[in-house]
Amino acid sequence: MAVEPASSMSTPDFGALVARHRNYFLSGATRSAEWRKTQLIALRSMMKDHAEEFYAALWTDLRRNRTDADWTDVKYMTSEIDHVLAHLRRWMKPLAVSTPLVLTPSHTQVQFDPLGVGLIIGTWNYPVMMVLSALVSAISAGNAAVIKPSEVSLATAEVIARLVPEYLDRNAFSVVLGAVPETTALLEQQWDHIFFTGGSTVAKVVMTAAAKHLTPVVLELGGKNPTIVHSSANLRVAAHRIAYGRWFNSGQTCTAPDYVLVFKDVAKAFLGHLKETLLQFYGEDPQKSPDYGRIASSHHFDRLTKLLSSGTIFHGGQHDGTDRFIAPTVLVNVSPDSPAMQEEIFGPILPVLEVADVREVIDFVNARPSPLGLYLFSDDRSVTKQILNSTTSGDACVNDCTLQPILHDLPFGGVGNSGMGKYHGEWGFRTYTNARGVLYHSTRLDSAVRYPPYDRNQRLREFVLKSASMAPKLRASLGSYRIPLDS
Ligand code: NAD
Repeated sequence: MAVEPASSMSTPDFGALVARHRNYFLSGATRSAEWRKTQLIALRSMMKDHAEEFYAALWTDLRRNRTDADWTDVKYMTSEIDHVLAHLRRWMKPLAVSTPLVLTPSHTQVQFDPLGVGLIIGTWNYPVMMVLSALVSAISAGNAAVIKPSEVSLATAEVIARLVPEYLDRNAFSVVLGAVPETTALLEQQWDHIFFTGGSTVAKVVMTAAAKHLTPVVLELGGKNPTIVHSSANLRVAAHRIAYGRWFNSGQTCTAPDYVLVFKDVAKAFLGHLKETLLQFYGEDPQKSPDYGRIASSHHFDRLTKLLSSGTIFHGGQHDGTDRFIAPTVLVNVSPDSPAMQEEIFGPILPVLEVADVREVIDFVNARPSPLGLYLFSDDRSVTKQILNSTTSGDACVNDCTLQPILHDLPFGGVGNSGMGKYHGEWGFRTYTNARGVLYHSTRLDSAVRYPPYDRNQRLREFVLKSASMAPKLRASLGSYRIPLDS
């Protein structure tokens, strides 16, 4: 199939843009497995052919090193596309379900229909993954889409806006560059799906706009991810993994540990391991480390430096506004009422609070909005089970943290205040489809038993309704035999 280049635009005539994509969608062109595969392969080529441009843009926007850029953006995308390509045919297959005996002869199935034209609004912390991963889900399900990357990571947004038109079907996909005015204008249009990644304040703006047309939304938000270190934990490994999760991308990760609840008896030892780990990862002067990032904007730099006084600085605390640098910082003696414990930190600061027992952990977590991730370091299975079964979070990791978005088979997303809807892999495919139940019924038999007047056949009707539960057993005894239909 010939693939025409997509269009990249910044004009506000979004009505015409959406109408063009919807007409193309309604033509049926995006439905076939072949079209979806062609688009996914083209997107993979885009990532491979222009990897150097993505590395450069990510360095400009976030001073992201190549290893991290591959892990979360460049090679992450090619690996996710490979995963989807390997499983797409199976996901697309309609699901056969049993039919009540009263409807014999018939068969029923669930087919997965694409939704139409989606809007994808992204954020800046993983500026490739945050828009292209949702795009992969949209394509896998046979949709058209308009992408609006974040204006904060402008260098990466510009690469995406330039390359998507070169590689993907221009009739189905566009990239719109811009900030609040452009996003507001886009939200005025009628979409078939809106996928938003960002903060909960803007999420409410998005959901209000979606409500006008009853458009389904996925909201990928943030929150304060509790990270529990139990007395039974391997403290050295816990320190390594928490440090990696918190200070990757200078803490600007929605799934990063936001604060630690450490059991009192191991608090001192854990803090010792954490300090040692930070020196090992980033050295005595982390500003000189090639592996340590920068804060995305001076607005966030100013917001974060204000949080440094929320407790006693146990490690770090150095900052330099001209370089938007804040050292990896650990805070102790932090009051649950302090500013650092009121809002998502989304930066390189980690408050460590002490707890006495499992009950205190559960009460602490449940007294706050549902987080995106909950992390538990414990080698005690009963403690692990108790905490997981008494709390809620979008996803959870035991003896690790932060990694859930890169596991293709896990449903990634929040719950409650941290968002709604899941994606990645098959979960993204399902999110972008309507599970459409279809009953194929024969006209060969047309028993009067279900029709009025109801004063006839009452006993027979009751028997037939009762026997509906026999249908699955009967089907099983018929094996794979399918009752032939008229059409
Ligand atoms: P944000 O909500 O300020 O912005 C996100 C997007 O919304 C941007 O594209 C921006 O242009 C647009 N926008 C901003 N203000 C708007 C308005 N008034 N009307 C319409 N559109 C508007 O979020 P952010 O600062 O870019 O991102 C930080 C947040 O995102 C954090 O809370 C973080 O946890 C969360 N996040 C979540 C995930 C996830 O997958 N769950 C991933 C990354 C970041």
